[in-house]
Amino acid sequence: MEDCLFCKIINKEIKSDIVFENDSVLIFKDISPQAPVHLLAVPKEHIDSILEVEKLDSGLLKELIDAVSRIALENELDKDGFRIVINTGIGAGQSVNHLHFHILGKRKLSWPPG
Ligand code: 5GP
Ligand code: ZN
Repeated sequence: MEDCLFCKIINKEIKSDIVFENDSVLIFKDISPQAPVHLLAVPKEHIDSILEVEKLDSGLLKELIDAVSRIALENELDKDGFRIVINTGIGAGQSVNHLHFHILGKRKLSWPPG
């Protein structure tokens, strides 16, 4: 989609530090990390948010979860725990309207989140 930051990252028009890529999923480092490990997992297809359920079929969801799980294990995030965050809507802090899973780890994560 034109003017979508993450579509530009997916298309390599904007440089990013990619840690995983397959036909349907890209995982790259967040430019402004909030934890020692802070990655963003995105579907390559443009999907505005988790609310676009008609675009999120079970195959794509499984691909996303498989990739997130694999990268979490590669980074040894299972040892001390990690968090997956999907900010949805302005009030929750979603600033990029392309569905993305934050993967946060390697620091103590408090609850409830701010
Ligand atoms: P949101 O606020 O929508 O939940 O998350 C968007 C995330 O994208 C933020 O954590 C922000 O730091 C990250 N971000 C914004 N611009 C860029 C960029 O150009 N490159 C990368 N790698 N991350 C970005
Ligand atoms: Zn997009």
